[in-house]
Amino acid sequence: MGKKERLAKILMQSWVERLLVQKKRRHLSILAYHSVQEFTQDYPYNAENISAYPNVFAEQMDFVSKHFNVINFYDLVRYQSAYPNLLFPQLLKLLPPNSMIITFDDGYADNLNIALPIMKSYGLTGVVYISTDFVDQQKLFWFDEVARCMQVLPEGPINIFNNRFSVHLNDTNREKQRRAFGRFLQTLTDNERLEAIEELRHISQYNFDSCKFSCGMPLSWEQVRQLRSEGIEIGSHTRNHGFLDVMNEEELLDQIAGSKEQIESQIGESIVSFSYPNGNFHQGVVDTVKEAGYQFAVNYKHNIAKSSIKLNRFLLPRLHVETDMSMSLFKGNLLMPSTFVR
Ligand SMILES: [Zn+2]
Repeated sequence: MGKKERLAKILMQSWVERLLVQKKRRHLSILAYHSVQEFTQDYPYNAENISAYPNVFAEQMDFVSKHFNVINFYDLVRYQSAYPNLLFPQLLKLLPPNSMIITFDDGYADNLNIALPIMKSYGLTGVVYISTDFVDQQKLFWFDEVARCMQVLPEGPINIFNNRFSVHLNDTNREKQRRAFGRFLQTLTDNERLEAIEELRHISQYNFDSCKFSCGMPLSWEQVRQLRSEGIEIGSHTRNHGFLDVMNEEELLDQIAGSKEQIESQIGESIVSFSYPNGNFHQGVVDTVKEAGYQFAVNYKHNIAKSSIKLNRFLLPRLHVETDMSMSLFKGNLLMPSTFVR
């Protein structure tokens, strides 16, 4: 057990918790989830993308619904228009205490099938960030596909992209090499990244139709609209979930503004928030998000959004939720961020 987990176990005893939940917090807590689903030993993709198992997610939502005021970015837009002269950090102070936004990255179908019914039972709203190239395409997210390829490749040497990625795969290092391949992809341009994945797909003879699992599927547009009709906000997570910090201006515009237009034409409503895939960005990326007409964007820095002059509404930090996190640490992050979120 890690240091934070041990501390959370000691501090989050019921009487301490009872005291802490009464505190009025003036910061905004934004939770970051990906997939919510059961894990089995033979999970076919990257299990790191499961943020919570359904029973744990239900326990988390139970706690959140009792002690937090859950809103979404449309609500923030309404607050902002009621106080047009206030800067965003000042606006945060006017929100009801203990305000929270629950976000989901990527757009897994389980957000609708598993997470939504649980959230509905507690009357909670949330935000689902979708990467539009994967909607309705009968294909996996590229990182799940890479994970699958790495699992099914036979042991032996793999050489990809003129040997720029060259490793010897065996059954004990598959996970390590999957990570190494992920790091390698970050060194390529966006087109090269797509070519390298295509090469991996080819050598592993991976074929979506011959390996269908019920889990890991991206949402369809019909399902996206269903989420929206249930009160869930839809935001953009680009088109292809590439690394924005290596893209040229034209690619950035297509990923950031193009995905916005595509989502808006599918749901018939404007969208207001954006999530940077893999948390990768530079100032030019942030400027493009702003110019595309978004009003808020979330990054992947593990933190709460404090009402400080430094807080940028286009770089809002989020609290990561992971399956190896105990309920005590989940509560610790929310109730005592100055101790647990560092
Ligand atoms: Zn993502």
